[in-house]
Amino acid sequence: MRGNRNPLHDPVLNRSLLERIRRMAEEFAAIRGRKPVFMEVCGSHTMALARSGLKMSLKNEVTLVSGPGCPVCVTDQSDIDSMIELAEGEGRILCTFGDMMRVPGSRGSLQDAKARGRDIRVVYAPSDAVSIALDHPGQEVVFLGIGFETTIPVLGAALLEAERLELSNFSMWISAKLVEPILRHLLELQEVELDGFLLPGHVAVISGSGHFEFLAHEFRQPGVISGFEPLELARGLYTLLELALEGKRQIVNDHPSVVTVQGNSRAQQVMAACFEPSTQVWRGIGTIPDSGLSLRSEYAHMDAKLKFKLEPMKPAATGCRCGEVIRGALHPVACPLFGRGCTPNHPVGPCMVSAEGTCAAEYQYMREE
Ligand code: SF4
Repeated sequence: MRGNRNPLHDPVLNRSLLERIRRMAEEFAAIRGRKPVFMEVCGSHTMALARSGLKMSLKNEVTLVSGPGCPVCVTDQSDIDSMIELAEGEGRILCTFGDMMRVPGSRGSLQDAKARGRDIRVVYAPSDAVSIALDHPGQEVVFLGIGFETTIPVLGAALLEAERLELSNFSMWISAKLVEPILRHLLELQEVELDGFLLPGHVAVISGSGHFEFLAHEFRQPGVISGFEPLELARGLYTLLELALEGKRQIVNDHPSVVTVQGNSRAQQVMAACFEPSTQVWRGIGTIPDSGLSLRSEYAHMDAKLKFKLEPMKPAATGCRCGEVIRGALHPVACPLFGRGCTPNHPVGPCMVSAEGTCAAEYQYMREE
């Protein structure tokens, strides 16, 4: 370690690891006749790989395709449209995460609705929405909650708090999705030939490393559970190459300081107490049974979808190809709108809006002038 610097940011360590990754990738290509292809499942990994320069430095040796782990990107446009429709009702306060505000629906975004005078607030945690409901007993407060296993326990905690406070003016519009069903679905589609997965450390903190064993046992895919620092990511890619070259189909927990085999049992209990499996619609992918969670029937009175009975609308066609990007089947620059009709300032689809979006990562960090 040099001085007090964080060794995970050490450029010298990273450089030597990069050289070893390149050599191994060349060895892989010599044997298989093509570059190794790995999928980073999670949007935070997509952004971290791009921001750190790893994706760019390895682009000639390793193909990194982004997976379906950006919650904003996989939220179906019909859900976005319903949220915007919900905002139009009188006497309502909508609360959501900042990323959701600029996602384009068929008729504008939540930000546009806010500009028209609707009361839509960005909060940092779902519990903030509970406090707002407590402070505004005469208004309906709806929390728009999207997310994967990392977020679902905090959604549950807010729900339990609202129930404890007996708030009748609080409800949640939930679009909660699960990693395992969508990975199964993508592997069954066989659209992209993959040599392994870079798996999200934060999801594994909740679910446990054991949760990903199905990849190795049922689909013969190696995986490395990785953190988000540049050196952790580089080490994850190195380990994936090692596994791929040796033909080992196993899941390596490279984040053992925080990830256990069983995961966080308290968070799992909250999830089980508040939610039950449900069919979900994934943007550009379609309907997948039991691929997400909805509020349990005992909390139906706090389910905004039931409380406000909005009719789903048919989304407008936009030409956005986020669905293919999310499946790893299309590189962002292959979308005809990339950098032309669609930029971070004027996004056409969620992959260009989200702080974890593949198109946004490509536009910000990977564009070659
Ligand atoms: Fe959608 Fe824009 Fe990405 Fe094209 S570049 S897939 S329009 S977000």
